[in-house]
Amino acid sequence: VSSAACLPVLPGGTLGVLGGGQLGQMFVHAAQAAGYRTVVLDPDASSPAGLVSHQHIRADYTDASALVQLSRACDAITTEFENVPATSLAALAKVRPVAPPAVAVSIAQNRAAEKVHFSHHGVPCAPFAVIDSADALAKVGPTLFPGILKTSRLGYDGKGQVSVARKDDLAAAWEQLGQVDCVLEQRLPLDFECSVIVARSADGSIVHLPVQRNLHHNGILAVTEVLPGGIAADVAEQAIDAACTIARATEYVGVLCVEFFVLEDGRLVANEMAPRPHNSGHYSQDACDLSQFDLQVRTLAGLPLVPPRQHSPAIMLNLLGDLWFAPDDAQGTTPTTPNWGAILALPGVHLHLYGKTQARRGRKMGHINITAREATQVLNTAREVAQILG
Ligand code: ADP
Ligand code: MG
Repeated sequence: VSSAACLPVLPGGTLGVLGGGQLGQMFVHAAQAAGYRTVVLDPDASSPAGLVSHQHIRADYTDASALVQLSRACDAITTEFENVPATSLAALAKVRPVAPPAVAVSIAQNRAAEKVHFSHHGVPCAPFAVIDSADALAKVGPTLFPGILKTSRLGYDGKGQVSVARKDDLAAAWEQLGQVDCVLEQRLPLDFECSVIVARSADGSIVHLPVQRNLHHNGILAVTEVLPGGIAADVAEQAIDAACTIARATEYVGVLCVEFFVLEDGRLVANEMAPRPHNSGHYSQDACDLSQFDLQVRTLAGLPLVPPRQHSPAIMLNLLGDLWFAPDDAQGTTPTTPNWGAILALPGVHLHLYGKTQARRGRKMGHINITAREATQVLNTAREVAQILG
């Protein structure tokens, strides 16, 4: 019996998620709002999603008996992060509908595999070389410099990356990253960065959110803008086509985010993909009639997929743990709290906090979505919020 035969899972059923971070929490909120019970598997007793779920199985992602417990408790199962062992997903998929498919997750776990996947399906990516041995390192040609050396696995928010100006610096950079498998990418001249969320269901229907424009600080997403005319229509169309192609290529089911670079010469280059909702899609919670988490619920449960509509221009501001410390407090010894009262007094402000008790520099604590009828109003409010945050 094909596990997909058990779809749809109607409201009243139980949906499970591997991982208890903020993305899992927002999935749980969306699932519960639609009438589902939820189960979270995460080893951390105080994980954001575990705290709000009907049930929290506190165990490791490879714990065989926990996986059995999860599959028995749930009608369908998803993941909120790509570093869940693909073997765990594959084991669950034998007995329950699992989305996304293990094959897409294993591609997204490895930067080299990701780039091969993109290129194979006609989506351009940055020129790169795989650095997995001293031999491979010695053979790298001069055209990739200046470049960025990135660990093939487990990199996020700019972690596991070293800038490499010249070939002479490559060996030291690789040493700095512990000589694990890496890709060396050519540093490209970026005009801006954008990403797009697509959702594909088991019957092959596919929908997307509008293409969003992203600003990073120190390798971490800081701001997402989804304003009218923010991205030229032909560039947006290319990005949507590429993301849909990438999703179809793995018979993807679920929510997929593809990040792109738009180069100074106007070319669109795929950077990476996330087999799950993405930080850059959070604006959809308040600016669209279906959020990326609603789409995750629908694709997982096999409910009808209808095209989402953006009803307000929007800006999303990420709230990092740094905001919980005074700017002159380098050690982070004197915790403060952002002035929520002043921020919430502004119209069109939607505060989302993940309930993390411990603030750390660079840690994602929450985000603010700002909406209004007019883009200029969104921009003005965003400036005011930024000023209050300091
Ligand atoms: P992460 O998994 O940490 O998000 P990314 O590969 O997306 O890693 O890199 C983080 C950021 O670094 C990108 O959003 C972009 O701003 C910058 N960056 C990464 N690769 C390149 C590149 N080849 N050329 C120019 N900038 C890059
Ligand atoms: Mg990235």
